[in-house]
Amino acid sequence: MEKELTLEDIQNFKGKYPKQLWFLFLVEMWERFCFYGMRGVLTIFMADQILGLSLPDKDANLKYGAIQAFVYAFTFIGGIFADKFLGFKKSLLFGGLVMIAGNIIIAVSPQEFFYLGITLSIIGTGFFKPNISSMVGELYKEGDPRRDAGFGLFYSGINIGALLGGAVCVYLGTSKDYGWSYAFLSAAIVMALGLITFLLTRKSLGPIGNSPLLNLPANKRLTKEIIVYVGALLSIPLIFIMIKNTDYTDYFMYSIGPLAFLYFIYETIKENDAKAQKKLIAAFIFILFSIIFWAFFEQSGGSLALFAQDNLHHNLLSFEINPNIVNNTSNSLFVIIFSPILGLIWLAMARKKIEPNTVIKFGIGFLFLAAAFYLFYYTKFFSDETGKTSLNAFTLAYLVITFGELALSPIGLSIMTKLSPKRLSGMMMGFWFLASAYGQYAAGLLGAGMSSPDENATLVTKLELYTDGYQQLAIYALIAGIVLIAISPLVRKLMQEVK
Ligand code: GLN
Repeated sequence: MEKELTLEDIQNFKGKYPKQLWFLFLVEMWERFCFYGMRGVLTIFMADQILGLSLPDKDANLKYGAIQAFVYAFTFIGGIFADKFLGFKKSLLFGGLVMIAGNIIIAVSPQEFFYLGITLSIIGTGFFKPNISSMVGELYKEGDPRRDAGFGLFYSGINIGALLGGAVCVYLGTSKDYGWSYAFLSAAIVMALGLITFLLTRKSLGPIGNSPLLNLPANKRLTKEIIVYVGALLSIPLIFIMIKNTDYTDYFMYSIGPLAFLYFIYETIKENDAKAQKKLIAAFIFILFSIIFWAFFEQSGGSLALFAQDNLHHNLLSFEINPNIVNNTSNSLFVIIFSPILGLIWLAMARKKIEPNTVIKFGIGFLFLAAAFYLFYYTKFFSDETGKTSLNAFTLAYLVITFGELALSPIGLSIMTKLSPKRLSGMMMGFWFLASAYGQYAAGLLGAGMSSPDENATLVTKLELYTDGYQQLAIYALIAGIVLIAISPLVRKLMQEVK
């Protein structure tokens, strides 16, 4: 019989990446295909007057924001249940199955079952998304300098899935020959591929992600697990109602953050070990800053999409291209190319002992964010008299913002796994994504603040308004970066030996 892998066996891997990382990479790639595929068609489907939900554009946008916020907010809950009852592996399986069910339900009759299916996608993603990242963290020993590079590679997988999913689902959904059902069906099929990949490779994870309740008798454990599954399914009507009525999203967002914060304080106090408590506080500081980062970054799905649609020439390095395609794909493409490269650079720097620590990486992330928004602002100086400006400058800004993302987002996943005690690692990863939920939410408000209240405003006026907004964001991002770097000695103290 094959010997069961131990944690030691896994963590003592040779080379740059553990082989299990490639498996998790694939599983997450398929999951993100499903998620971004669904997300890519969401607004267009809701606003489709004939075959979709016939919502006015404004409502479709609001609902899009609400669904995004819910999806990421539920990762906090999914993380807690994984820590306390299911373990990451079972959580992932359950989440994946629920996501598949959600997409199949919509595919059966998009107009009829959309909200029910989306509700399932929200619950499913909550159980899936944080926990796969936590498993990546467990492939590494404490202090292993290869961890950030591993998350860099994993992040490329995320973006390959995101890019393919967005392209395939939008193509299928908007094509005359196929239609919305095919878009959602393809998301379901791909998620099934992800789960099959996971089932075929999960043995290689050894004890990683096993149930935290292995010390209980099997029947007791099973009862607890069933309670979680049933509880999750019972929450369907509640989430369903909250999504249907966008007003409830506000109440939900006002309450989930403070509640999560209180729960975090409770667990931090309960931790009882001053060293671990300090690390949790450091993790919390990273989470807070990430809200600001995502609020700015997520302009890509909102104001930058409108800016691309209205104010850009269709010419990139003398090729004719729709600026919306650039807006939707350039970030993922840049991540796929540069994330592994940056990971290798971090590794090489670690070998020479000159790798910046995480606080400085975050600070650098904000400086890139500031530079990118300065470039978005600067596009106005290339505009013609009709208010249209350079797609080249816009794309360059996307390259810069991507470097900001790479200095913060995969590094953020990594630092959550470094700073969290094992018993809270799912919750903390969920907390990290909850910050994204707030970022998304704030991004919508910021974008709305920048757009002209007058539907018939000229392109020149729109350009002025957006670019002025981007200039402001550049300044705030710069301030955030400077503050982070300034407080880095304090945060590093809280982090202790963690880099
Ligand atoms: N694009 C990344 C992903 O899908 C990060 C998302 C986020 O944290 N907002 O995982």
